[in-house]
Amino acid sequence: MQILVTPQELNEQCREWKAAGRTVALVPTMGYYHAGHEDLMRHGKSLADHLVVSLFVNPAQFGPAEDFEAYPRNSERDTAIAGACGADVLFMPQSGDMYAPDHGTWVDVPAMAQKLCGQSRPAFFRGVCTVVLKLFLLSQADAAVFGNKDWQQQAIVKRMARDLNVPIRIETRPTAREDDGLALSSRNVYLTPAERAQAPEIYLGLKQAQDMVSRGEKDPELLRAAVLRRWAERLPLGRLDYLSVVHPETLETVNCVAAPALAACAVHLGKARLIDNMLLYP
Ligand code: AMP
Repeated sequence: MQILVTPQELNEQCREWKAAGRTVALVPTMGYYHAGHEDLMRHGKSLADHLVVSLFVNPAQFGPAEDFEAYPRNSERDTAIAGACGADVLFMPQSGDMYAPDHGTWVDVPAMAQKLCGQSRPAFFRGVCTVVLKLFLLSQADAAVFGNKDWQQQAIVKRMARDLNVPIRIETRPTAREDDGLALSSRNVYLTPAERAQAPEIYLGLKQAQDMVSRGEKDPELLRAAVLRRWAERLPLGRLDYLSVVHPETLETVNCVAAPALAACAVHLGKARLIDNMLLYP
């Protein structure tokens, strides 16, 4: 596995592969790998001749009061994992090489980016889209892999690629979870033992909504009320950011679960802000 650090090196390597008729798959990440990342990488490897994994804690997607500095990092361990998962290139750029001091071009999908996580993180998806488009352009990837854990992110990236005619196939993978249901996240490391003990309730609350829908409940307000009641009892350390039932592609709020809908939430638990989601099938 090659470790490349400048955008130019990445582009040269990928252009060489493409000129030789080879295909490239890309897995963008911020590192501190867990089994969810590994699954994305192995899937990426199966999609193309060459796998590029990017590891970049993208400052543009963190707000001023957020955890950019504290975001967990372990590049030595991550390098070993990316290699074991079949990466041909691990791209680890410096911020200064990704963003010129006078960087001033942003990619945004405001209608989708202002919903859900965008309510409390207004510049987040603009930062994501901008860096993801840069990575698409540099790598010339034929396919890219994203996780459904960040549902809103994959939906926005798909819309961006469609709107801008980016010739890339976006594939998604199911959320990897701990045995007790907690979605794997690099940020789970922030949890104290007491918070960790309550954290599976995020998943269990969404699961309750899913069970209610499969038994015939269609009213999103009743679903929300039931989950919030449950969390008030069993997730007392949590502070709700949002819990919404939305159209899985447009992310518009739905007022009846007549077709598959997405229950998505963000919950502050101690220092961590955890997100999760689940599709509800009527
Ligand atoms: P991150 O490093 O957190 O920015 O995530 C990089 C990629 O891994 C994104 O496409 C995420 O959606 C995906 N990812 C993160 N956590 C999980 C998980 N628990 N299961 C599946 N994919 C995940």
